[in-house]
Amino acid sequence: MSRSATYPIRMLNPALRLRTGSRRAGHPHGVCKTGRGSSRSCNRIVAPGVPVLYQTFSISFEETGMPEQKRLYIKTYGCQMNVYDSERMAEAMGEHGYKTTSDPEGADLILLNTCHIREKAAEKVYSELGRLKPLKASNPNLRIGVAGCVAQAEGAEIMRRQPMVDLVVGPQSYHRLPELEARARNGEHPLDTEFPAELKFEGLSRRPGTNRGPTAFLTVQEGCDRFCAFCVVPYTRGAEASRPVSSVIAEAQRLVANGVREITLLGQNVNAYNGEGRDGAVSLAKLISGMEAIDGLDRIRYTTSHPNDMTDDLIEAHGTCPKLMPYLHLPVQSGSDRILKRMNRGHTAKAYVRLIERIRAARPDILISGDFIVGFPEETEVDFADTMALVEEVRYGQSYSFKYSARPGTPAAERDQVDPEVASDRLERLQTLLSRQQRDSQDDMIGREVGVLFERKGRKQDQMVGKSEHLHAVHVSNGNIVAGDLLRVRITDSAPNSLAGELTAG
Ligand code: SF4
Repeated sequence: MSRSATYPIRMLNPALRLRTGSRRAGHPHGVCKTGRGSSRSCNRIVAPGVPVLYQTFSISFEETGMPEQKRLYIKTYGCQMNVYDSERMAEAMGEHGYKTTSDPEGADLILLNTCHIREKAAEKVYSELGRLKPLKASNPNLRIGVAGCVAQAEGAEIMRRQPMVDLVVGPQSYHRLPELEARARNGEHPLDTEFPAELKFEGLSRRPGTNRGPTAFLTVQEGCDRFCAFCVVPYTRGAEASRPVSSVIAEAQRLVANGVREITLLGQNVNAYNGEGRDGAVSLAKLISGMEAIDGLDRIRYTTSHPNDMTDDLIEAHGTCPKLMPYLHLPVQSGSDRILKRMNRGHTAKAYVRLIERIRAARPDILISGDFIVGFPEETEVDFADTMALVEEVRYGQSYSFKYSARPGTPAAERDQVDPEVASDRLERLQTLLSRQQRDSQDDMIGREVGVLFERKGRKQDQMVGKSEHLHAVHVSNGNIVAGDLLRVRITDSAPNSLAGELTAG
């Protein structure tokens, strides 16, 4: 509802007394005579003696006394944790009269929730802000904010380079966003990139009871104490902090009460989770087995993990917790011990392979996914060959691989960089091997029966898309399936990034 407009209201003609015996508040003097041309018009009679049932008159927005409905446009970059944070920021602002919009043109508040993972990440944010400048020029009431890891890393520099930015808020202060927005509305330029003692989750509002899709992310841990030589997370998200068990369980129950059947627990180093429970610190494995008791929750996943935090009880949980899905994303980055040391990963290639063997012993059908960086400073062809050998040995069902990119402020950024062409060549060779392994893992599913949680419509008529227990995308053409159905499917075909199947009788 815009500020300046007036709104036609149609209501029962107060001149009419309803024959219910109950007195409805009516216009005290029957047929009003306020006359035409003013913002109120009435007293028309359709036919002699037949009173008009409805009258229309206009009032301004302010006169409705309703809270002004403002529009919030959030652009989210980067990881699932940013996706989760954007949802929480939208919910927090929802309690202050904001409704999200997908159109920045009509927004009253624009938030860029940024990611600092890629090279030139900050420059990309500045150019995006440049693109938003005309909107601000055409709507002086528009407020623009920068959130996320670039906000944390750049801080006041953002407002110095782009004075049109009204507020800057780091990932640990989202519970203060409404207050920062109010201060920005009063002409201030608040900056909050602190690491507050209290966890933002305790300050954020309870998740609203809105119906959701069948899957949801739930952040349980933030920050990281590992300081890998290429990573900005310890600087932008701070030290590891885990949410109390009660807060996680409460949020999970609310999500399930609103239609969620699968929850993915998020953390930059999620398997280092040690949240406060009734009897002291609780590990991720214990949290998962606690969540298994939530009625209506069918599937649990977690991401992203560090090999050194794969505790014995978490490995065991993969064999004993039926709701814990047989999928594990366990980044390794390189197969060369020399490079792993230079990366400060804290483990060797052999230790990683032995860990995978223990996890596969606990859950033989588990799908292993990995992260790889090629072209890390000082990486030689021999180091790269070690990475290829590790990939051959582990056999990945899914993977993410990148060329190293220097992040300002990280130790590796100061070292001798590998020639970009050499890095590109190595990435191509690695991705050829990884795609072949992914294809093999999918082809192995043909003829097998899997459980699929359907999430949305596919591109074809009557086609529905969902995820199997191994996080494979599965398409099924059947007009009776709806989002939220968890059904048995026999895999009939495999494509580069998805599987096709048919419903089984079971
Ligand atoms: S463990 Fe992950 S989040 Fe932590 S510093 Fe290393 S790469 Fe970054």
